[in-house]
Amino acid sequence: MNSSNRIKKMKCFYHENDRDISHYVFWNTDIRKKNHIDIYECRECKEKLERDIDRENRIIEHNRKQKEDARLRREIKNSEEYLKRLKSIENDLWDFKVRDWLAKGIKLKGYEKGLYKERIPKEILQLARATMKLMRKIEHIKKSLPTRKEIEEQKRLKQAEIDMINKKPIMRCTHHGDRFLENVIKSGVDKTNGKQRFKCKECMKRIHAENYKKNKTKILAAHNRYKEQDPEKYREMKNASKRKCWALNKEKYIKKSLDYDKKNPNKKRLRQRRFKNKAVKELADVYVKNQIVRDTRLKWADIPQEMVDIKKGIMTIKRLVKYEKINKGE
Ligand SMILES: [Zn+2]
Ligand SMILES: [Zn+2]
Repeated sequence: MNSSNRIKKMKCFYHENDRDISHYVFWNTDIRKKNHIDIYECRECKEKLERDIDRENRIIEHNRKQKEDARLRREIKNSEEYLKRLKSIENDLWDFKVRDWLAKGIKLKGYEKGLYKERIPKEILQLARATMKLMRKIEHIKKSLPTRKEIEEQKRLKQAEIDMINKKPIMRCTHHGDRFLENVIKSGVDKTNGKQRFKCKECMKRIHAENYKKNKTKILAAHNRYKEQDPEKYREMKNASKRKCWALNKEKYIKKSLDYDKKNPNKKRLRQRRFKNKAVKELADVYVKNQIVRDTRLKWADIPQEMVDIKKGIMTIKRLVKYEKINKGE
């Protein structure tokens, strides 16, 4: 802008024309003619226009922001739903997951495998789903089980405790002197102080043997009488006594059977095979439990009976499927 330039005030449609220059602002310089002309426009109109433009921009910006917010919200919601869906697939085990699991290891490909999966009935899906959930629970239990190191430490502590007890005599026998845990049998509870009472094992053995020798005919007669009266119960008692005898002399009997097996390895193998074949054929609990605990650190006792039943059901179904396939010559 040059002071020699002429000034031109633009016409205004809203305000009075040719007002004081303070009502105008410089807009542009017209250089087309020899004497340049500075063009001024109405300040009020310009300000209004700017305000309008500003407002317009603000509205546009506002709308844009709103749109963006909505998009973000939608995206979050979608991702939340997506995650929820993923979680639900894993947690609730959607049908396709169960079908995949059931079809695992089946030697079919592509379309045939799809068809196989499709044909699995709803009931079996439910059964398999229950199994999967139980397996997952067991997996969870497995993780919370103590480690091998912890188990060994516990064993060590227990052994130390036993050693401590073994070092201290529990009672004194007039015939045999100090008696330790392994030399006594439990003999009820002392009513005066609630403490466990013990008797010398050797002495008791002797007393029983003497009693038997003295009253042999009487005792045997009584046994026979009892046997005739209630053979079922007699057998039960006999078995219980055998079991007790076994438990008391566990090591001896185990050694005896081990020795027998060592001398007759073929018999041992045959017996084991017979036992195994029977268990596999009849889906015995032991076999099913073994299948479940295989490659885990679970014990049989950790497996709930429902799990065994369900696993049995699934194994039966798998066998039936296999059997049908063989019969159809597939
Ligand atoms: Zn104006
Ligand atoms: Zn004694």
